[in-house]
Amino acid sequence: MSPLIDSHGRTKRKLRISLTDRCNFRCTYCMPEHPDWLPRASLLDRGEIVRLAALFVDQGIEQIRLTGGEPLLRRDLVECVKAIDGLRGRGLRRISMTTNASRIAPVAATLVAAGVDDFNVSLDAVDPAIFRQMTKREIAPVLDGIQALADAGAAVKINAVVVRGDNEHQVVPLLEWAMARQLPLRFIEYMPLDAPGHWRRDAVVSEADMLAAIAATHSVETLPRANDPASPYRVDGHYPLGIISTVSHPFCASCDRLRLTATGELFTCLFSPVGMPLGARMREGIDDDTLAATVRRAVWLKEAGYAARPGPVDRPITMHAMGG
Ligand code: SAM
Ligand code: SF4
Repeated sequence: MSPLIDSHGRTKRKLRISLTDRCNFRCTYCMPEHPDWLPRASLLDRGEIVRLAALFVDQGIEQIRLTGGEPLLRRDLVECVKAIDGLRGRGLRRISMTTNASRIAPVAATLVAAGVDDFNVSLDAVDPAIFRQMTKREIAPVLDGIQALADAGAAVKINAVVVRGDNEHQVVPLLEWAMARQLPLRFIEYMPLDAPGHWRRDAVVSEADMLAAIAATHSVETLPRANDPASPYRVDGHYPLGIISTVSHPFCASCDRLRLTATGELFTCLFSPVGMPLGARMREGIDDDTLAATVRRAVWLKEAGYAARPGPVDRPITMHAMGG
């Protein structure tokens, strides 16, 4: 089958699959303080996840990122990874995972053996008090998780969302912490994807603000941009840093991503107000050909992106349920 393409000429190569909306953290920039979890029976089971994953891989998806919520809360996580790993013969090249890492230590090696190629770990502060303030949880299990991944030989990248008034003064400490451990780091601008009414434009620490803070104590070189949402920099002549600046510099023109929520809703853009309910269609008995045609149509209609629709999105689900 020919690859998935939208009406703006963008081919889709990457799919994020949210395995659950549940999370053991309560990051203030991601979810309401008291989230309403999706009904358990509405979450896709493993067979449904693999059916959808296979359908996307057969239409040109090469990379699948498992996310959530917190993917480690999914009891059959290892079995999900193994089943998706079985799609490599059909064109899947890479399986990644985004996690808060707090529960990963006991299963780090098992996940690598099951097929996860790389892990993005969210770490918004190295100061334990600031970390606690932002996530409402302790930092120690996360640091243990990162160590366990390193011990398992896993490729790890650190992600940090920067929010003014919370952790903007952690930009340089986080950078130095990651540099000392030779862990690639990406800072992410705070996006309007959290609880309604929570995001404020003035809470966004822009890419330019972050670079200014870093440049006060380190040399920073701008590198040519590749097909990646992060702007690449080289710090102190050797260290690779990325900054994802969706708010100040939306990079939607080459977006090659799609997202599936834990209930099987297809969101073709992080900022779409509605998704295509593929999970519900599967439970009504849709056949594979009609399902594939439904996906192709939804992808074709993918919107231009954040630049065309800046600011908060009016929809019932926040980032933890969308699958970041
Ligand atoms: N629980 C896992 C984690 O925290 O890594 C995976 C799910 S989380 C929703 C995925 C990513 O989305 C994390 O890196 C998180 O920092 C990011 N994220 C959540 N809310 C965000 C927001 N409002 N703006 C920017 N990034 C956000
Ligand atoms: Fe949970 Fe990740 Fe959202 Fe934090 S960012 S609340 S860890 S889903």
